[in-house]
Amino acid sequence: MKNYDVVVVGAGPVGTTFARYMAETGFKVAILEKKKEIGVPLQCAGLLGKKIKKVNILPDDFIINSVNGAFLHSPNDTVLSVSKEKPEAYVLDRVGYDKFLAELASNSGVDILLNHKVVKVDSLNGIINLKNSENTKISADIIAGADGHSSIVSRSFNPPAESFQAAQYLIDAGEKRFKNDFVDLYVDSKISPGFFWAIPLSETTARVGLFADANYQNLTNYLHELISKRPELRGSTILKKYYGIIPKQDPNKSLVKERVILLGDAASQVKPTTGGGLIMGFTSAEIASKVTKKALEAEDIATLENYPKSYHDKFKKELKVQLMVHKVFKSLSNSDLDYMFRKLKEEGAEDIISSYGDMDTQSPLVKEMLKQGIIFSILPKMLSRGISSLWK
Ligand SMILES: Cc1cc2nc3c(=O)[nH]c(=O)nc-3n(C[C@H](O)[C@H](O)[C@H](O)COP(=O)(O)OP(=O)(O)OC[C@H]3O[C@@H](n4cnc5c(N)ncnc54)[C@H](O)[C@@H]3O)c2cc1C
Repeated sequence: MKNYDVVVVGAGPVGTTFARYMAETGFKVAILEKKKEIGVPLQCAGLLGKKIKKVNILPDDFIINSVNGAFLHSPNDTVLSVSKEKPEAYVLDRVGYDKFLAELASNSGVDILLNHKVVKVDSLNGIINLKNSENTKISADIIAGADGHSSIVSRSFNPPAESFQAAQYLIDAGEKRFKNDFVDLYVDSKISPGFFWAIPLSETTARVGLFADANYQNLTNYLHELISKRPELRGSTILKKYYGIIPKQDPNKSLVKERVILLGDAASQVKPTTGGGLIMGFTSAEIASKVTKKALEAEDIATLENYPKSYHDKFKKELKVQLMVHKVFKSLSNSDLDYMFRKLKEEGAEDIISSYGDMDTQSPLVKEMLKQGIIFSILPKMLSRGISSLWK
């Protein structure tokens, strides 16, 4: 049986990043990936806040477009226009980027074994069982489950993750309809706390999608409704269709058991408000690599418990705020949403959102809106009290 210091299950972006960090510190590392090709099919809108450049290597070659702002649409189309002077987010070639991260890992000495599907993990002894490959078993001192939303590694010590469904089309409008540096986001109570997005790749093409607590048939219907209703999308040609799953954020999930840790979507490390997982996943990969390195050096797997501790210290507060925002959105009807957008516009909130808004960290904006009394004027008393209690 082959033995490694660290085996990572899943060659997604978070798994390959963690594997690289571990190999760079001199450990013997392998990644087991069930697919034959990394990065396909695309299951991502590829919109990443500018923080991405701080939490991972991102060569400009993988940036298709830079985004400075957003048009936020209420159901009856009150539009809030928010923006910054410099790019706030990037639209990525996710397939190319996933392959690039895998190449970096490989160059650092990681063995990437494709077509290796993990079927069982023994967390106590560090044994992994594989299906349909030359090696039926591999052992490791530490196993990292980075095997995505339906993680088999997570299910060996957690209940199955709850999730949202997502659908996305690549569309071609056939003429210049998109403002290259702005994304359009549309809210509608039938999909809350999810939302629709139109993310331009160019002035004529865009990724248009949604995530929601709904089945694929309903998602498809909602997406077609949006495309036929919106003037900027109407009559577009659908070039490609993608479907995917977004795990729901779960603050109570166990991230460690004996020799096993969880990372990325497998650990439900996603932002509640947007469903985005890359920045949290990359940040967690770095935190986990430091803890794993120490555990291996000290030959003390009990210290792996420092990983969830550091992870919660880093994200707990922000996640609490985002989960509350999420709850508020879920409770609002379309007329509440229209009222809220109208009020926000009247109260000059576009400037506040432009100044304090951040794709990845929403607590400074919510705090500022509380400070300026805006939250109290747009939400029913009970909800605004709930939000303000987060800072007490
Ligand atoms: C439609 C959609 C749009 C999104 N848009 C954004 C966005 O704009 N920005 C953002 O930040 N995030 C977005 N996300 C979320 C983002 O794609 C994920 O958070 C990210 O891919 C998580 O990376 P990961 O490495 O944890 O898992 P994954 O990318 O899911 O990789 C897991 C890997 O594990 C492999 N695997 C699974 N099971 C096994 C097994 N048993 N054995 C071996 N290998 C296995 C899989 O084949 C896969 O390669 C979106 C998601 C969807 C569905």
